[in-house]
Amino acid sequence: MTQFSRRDFMTSAAVAAGAALLPPLALGTSPQDPVVNTTFKDDQPISREKVAWKVRPFPMKQVRLGEGACKVAMEADRQYLHALPPDRLLHTFRINAGLSSSAQPLGGWEAPDCELRGHYAGGHYLSACALMYASTGDEDLKNNATKVVAELGKCQAVVKSGYLSAFPVEFFDRLRERQRVWAPFYTIHKIMAGLLDMYVYCGNQQALDMVEKMAGWTAGYTGSLSYEHMQRVLGTEFGGMGEALCNLYAVTGKDYYLEVAQRFDKKQFFDPLAAHRDELKGLHVNTHIPQVIAAARYYELTGERRYRDIAEYFWEEVVSERSYCTGGTSNGESWNTDPGKLSTELGPSTTECCCAYNMMKLTRHLFGWSADARFMDYYERTLLNHRLGTINPEDGTMMYYLPLASGYWKTFGKPFDSLWCCTGTGSEEYAKLTDTIYFHDDDSLFVNLYIDSQVQWPEKGLGVRQETRFPEERGTTLTIVGKSPTQLSINLRIPYWVEGGSVKINGAALPAFASPGSYLTLNRVWKPGDKIELSLPMALHIDAMPDDETIQAVMYGPLVLAGRFEEVTRDMSYGDYEPKAGDQRKVPEISANSAKPTAWIEPDATRPLTFQAVGQSQPLTLIPLNRVIHERYAVYWKVNSRSV
Ligand SMILES: [Zn+2]
Repeated sequence: MTQFSRRDFMTSAAVAAGAALLPPLALGTSPQDPVVNTTFKDDQPISREKVAWKVRPFPMKQVRLGEGACKVAMEADRQYLHALPPDRLLHTFRINAGLSSSAQPLGGWEAPDCELRGHYAGGHYLSACALMYASTGDEDLKNNATKVVAELGKCQAVVKSGYLSAFPVEFFDRLRERQRVWAPFYTIHKIMAGLLDMYVYCGNQQALDMVEKMAGWTAGYTGSLSYEHMQRVLGTEFGGMGEALCNLYAVTGKDYYLEVAQRFDKKQFFDPLAAHRDELKGLHVNTHIPQVIAAARYYELTGERRYRDIAEYFWEEVVSERSYCTGGTSNGESWNTDPGKLSTELGPSTTECCCAYNMMKLTRHLFGWSADARFMDYYERTLLNHRLGTINPEDGTMMYYLPLASGYWKTFGKPFDSLWCCTGTGSEEYAKLTDTIYFHDDDSLFVNLYIDSQVQWPEKGLGVRQETRFPEERGTTLTIVGKSPTQLSINLRIPYWVEGGSVKINGAALPAFASPGSYLTLNRVWKPGDKIELSLPMALHIDAMPDDETIQAVMYGPLVLAGRFEEVTRDMSYGDYEPKAGDQRKVPEISANSAKPTAWIEPDATRPLTFQAVGQSQPLTLIPLNRVIHERYAVYWKVNSRSV
C-alpha cells in the first residue's frame, strides 16, 4: 500500500503563512468517563465492561489543579480554545452541507482545500472543550461547544444519510477504490470522539444521537465491503475508529457497534503483535497506536485475551525498544529501524507529539488493569518531558515534532493557520491533566503524580489536598480534608528515579519506605487535617542510546536536561512542523569520566533546576527540556569517556 506523508496532502501550505472554584458535585446525574463506568440510569451506574479496572480514575470534575506548570499549560490551552470562534470552526461543515457561511475560513489543516478539514473544528475542538469543562467547570467553553454541536446537527440533517463531515462523501469512494486520498476515517473518528465526549462530559444528548447516526453510516459503508476489501481500506490511516465504536457500545449497550468496531481490526498489524513479534519497522507510528487503544477497549468490553496480549506486547516493545529519554517515539512519523536501534534516528522531526498523547492514553489502560507503578513511571516521564514544554505558554500554540537531534529548536503552530493533528491532541491533552493524578479502588487511594491539586472522594467523605512545587521541590505534602475519620490505604508512587526518600505522618518519620518503581501503602484511620510529607530526593543519571552508549542524555530525577544555546527569532519559532533540516548548531562533544558519567555536570547553586558543565571545551548551561522555548538546545551528547 502506498504510504503518503502528511505534507504531500497540503495543497495550500502558503495559507499557513499567515483557578476555578470547585463546582457542586452532581454524582449519579450525568455520565462519566466511558472507560470507568459508562453511563447512569435512574442514578444507578450501568457498566458493560467485562474486565473491570483494578484501579480507576476519579471523574475529572472531582479533581482540580493548583498552581504550577500543569496549570500554566492548561490555562494556555483554555485561552486558545476561547480564541477560536464557533462560526469559523463551522465554516467548511456548512459549505459542505450546502448551507451558507460568511465566516473567514481557518487555515492549515482546516483550510477549505485540505483533505483533513473538520478533524479539529468538529472533532478535537469538541473533545477539548468537553474535557476542559470537566477539568475546570468552564461554562463558556461548554456553551461554545454546545453551539457547534447544534450547528453540526443541522449539517448532518441536510445530508440525511447520517454522514457528517467537512469534506464530500466522495472522498470515501476514493478510499474504497484505493485512489489517492488523505485519511477520511481518521477525520470521522475525531468527529465521533468529539461528539461522544460532549455527551459523556457535558451530558449533550443531541451529540449522542448524532454520533449514533455517524456510526450507522459507517456500518453501511463498511458492511458493503468484503473482509479482504475492508482490510485494503485499512491501509489508509483511520485513527481510533475502533475505539470510538467500542465507546459507543459502552454508552448505549447496542452490541452492533462492537461488531462494526471489529471491522477496523487490521489483521496484518494485530497478528504479529498477538504472536509477540515486533514487525513495527516501516510503520507510520500515529496510524497504529490508536488501533492498539481500540484493542485495549475491545478487551475490556469482551474479555477476549488476545486483545490484551496485543496491547501489552505492543506497549513493551514501543517503550523499551523504540522510545527516547523523553518517552517520545517515532522519527519522521515512522519506526524506521529494528528494535533497539535509535542512535541513527535523531533528526529535526523525531517524536511526533500525537504519538506521546496516544501512548499515554494507552498507558492508562495498562495501569488500570494492573496498578503496576512501572506504567506511571513511563506516564510521568512522558508528561514532564514531552508534553509539558510542547505547548507555548504565551499563546497555547502546540508543537508537531519534538526534535531530539542536538542544535535544533522548538517550532510551534500558528493559532488559526496550522491546526495540525498535534494541535488537536495537544488541545485535548492539556484539558485533561486532572485525569491521572489520582486513582482509586474500593478502599484505597493511589497518588500517581506529584502535581499541586485537590481530589474529592465523596463516597468516602474525604478529599486530599496536595501541595507541591514538584519538581523544583523534591517531594510533596498531602493533607486530608473532610468531616470525619476514615479507614483507608493511601498508596504513594515511589518513582524509579528516587535516590533514598522518606515519609512523615503528622511530623513523625516512618521507619519504612518502599523500593523505587512501586507504591508505598499507608493504611490507617485518617482524620481531617492529617498530613503526609513525602520526600523524593533526585540525582543526576544518564540515559544512553540502547545501541550506542557514547550517545547520552542527562536526567535529573524525572527530568530530561537540555543544554541551552542562542535564542532563535520568532519567525523561526512559528508555523513549521520542524526546524529546517541542516540548520543545526554544532554542539561540543563531552569529555566524561567513565566511572562517574554525570560528574561533568554540577548544580548551579544560585538557580533551581539549573546545572553547569565542568571541565569541558566551553561553558554549558543545562535546564529541564520542558523549560526551553525559543532557544536552540541539545538533549543527546556525544560523550568521550576517559578512565580518570
Ligand atoms: Zn500529530
